[in-house]
Amino acid sequence: MTSPKAISTGVEVLRRTFPGLSTADHATLLESCKMRDYPAGEVLCREGQVEDVFYIIVSGQVEVSQIVDLTERRALKTLSSPGYFGEMALIQSVPRSATVTTVEPTTVLEVDHPSFDAVLRRSPVMAMAMLREVIGRLQFNDEKTIANLRQKNEKLAAAYDELRRQDQLRSEFLTTVSHELRTPLTSAKGFLQLIRSGMMDDAALKAALATVGDNVEVIIALVNDILFLQEIEGIAPQFEPTDVAEVVRRVIEEKRGQAAGAGVELNASIAAASRSYSVQGDAESLARVFAALIDNAIKFSPNGGEVRVEATTDAGGITVTVSDHGLGIAPEHMPKIFDRFFHVDEINGARFGGVGLGLAIAKNVAERHGGKIEAESEGVAGRGSIFRVSLPVM
Ligand code: ADP
Repeated sequence: MTSPKAISTGVEVLRRTFPGLSTADHATLLESCKMRDYPAGEVLCREGQVEDVFYIIVSGQVEVSQIVDLTERRALKTLSSPGYFGEMALIQSVPRSATVTTVEPTTVLEVDHPSFDAVLRRSPVMAMAMLREVIGRLQFNDEKTIANLRQKNEKLAAAYDELRRQDQLRSEFLTTVSHELRTPLTSAKGFLQLIRSGMMDDAALKAALATVGDNVEVIIALVNDILFLQEIEGIAPQFEPTDVAEVVRRVIEEKRGQAAGAGVELNASIAAASRSYSVQGDAESLARVFAALIDNAIKFSPNGGEVRVEATTDAGGITVTVSDHGLGIAPEHMPKIFDRFFHVDEINGARFGGVGLGLAIAKNVAERHGGKIEAESEGVAGRGSIFRVSLPVM
C-alpha cells in the first residue's frame, strides 16, 4: 500500500481491530497489504478451497455461511469493522471452513501469509487475538458438530421407531390375515367333509354348498383387498368421467342386504344435482371407498342402529359423508385408523372381523382422485363416527 491516505486508513483500521499492535507491526502488515473494494454479493472465501489470504474489514459488511446437511446453506454470522476473517488458513493450511460473501459494498485489507507470519511471531497482541479467535472457533465448531450429531441421532431414532412400528404392523397383519383366512377355510372344510360323507339330504346339501360359497367369497374379498393395495401403487390410474352419485347409489343398493342382516337401517340422501357429481375417476375404486366406509359403519353399529350416507356438491367439489351412531373411535386410535393393517379386533368384549385394509384403501383411492378423507369421532359409544370423503369435480 503506497498512497498516504490508504496508509492512514489502514493504520486506523489496524488500531481498531487489534488495539495494542505496535507501530512497527502496523508497518509490516501494511507494507504487503492490499486495500480492495468489493461490490455486494462477491464471494471472498469459498468453503472447501485452500487459500491463505487474511482479511481485515475496513468498511461494509460480510456474511459467513456454511453448508449443512450436504445441500442447505446456513448463515452463521455477519461481520463488519472491526472484524476479520480467513485467519485459520494462515495458522494451518486447511481448506476454508465457511464461505464469506459481501452483503454490501465492502472494503477490506488483504494480508498475505508471510507478512502475517512475521507480525504474528513478533506481536503477542496479535498472537493472543488470533488464539482467542481460534479457540472460539474450535468451540463453536465442536458445539455445532455435537448439535448436528444430536439432530442426526434423533432422526435415526425416529426412523428406527417407524421401522419397528411397520415391522410390528406387518407381523400383526400376518397373524390377522392367517386368522381371517382360517375361519372361513375351517368352516368350508367342515361343510365339505359333511358333503363328502354323503349323509346330507338335498336341502341340507344346498345349504352346505351355499355356506361353502359364502366362505369362499370372504376369502376372495380379503385376497382382493390385499392385491388391490399392492397393485394400486404400481399402476397409473386410468381415469374417465365418473358420476359419483351413481357410484354411491350402486354401493348403497349392494349393502342393503348386509345392513338388514345386521339389523341396521341404511339411509341415503343424495342432494339434487344443482352442481356436477362428475369427477375424473375410476368408478370401481371409488365404489371400494364407499363400500369400506359403509361396511365399517354397519359393523360398529348396534342392532337397531342407523347408518346415513349423504352426498352433496358445492363449489369446492363433492362430499360423501358416512355417519353412524355406533361405538365410535377412541382418540388414541384416531391417528392410526388409515394405516395399513391397523385393526381393532375387540371393543368391550365384542369382536370385530377385518384386517385393517378398508380405510387404507379408501385413503389411497381418495388421494389418487385429488381428494381426501377425514374421520371425526368423540370416541363415545352411541355417538358414533363420521367419515367424510371430498373429491374435486372435473
Ligand atoms: P378393518 O375394518 O378391517 O379393521 P379398516 O381400515 O376399515 O379395517 O378400519 C380400521 C379401524 O378403524 C377399525 O378396525 C376400527 O377400529 C376403526 N373404524 C373404522 N371405521 C369405524 C367406524 N365407523 N366406527 C368405529 N370404528 C371404526
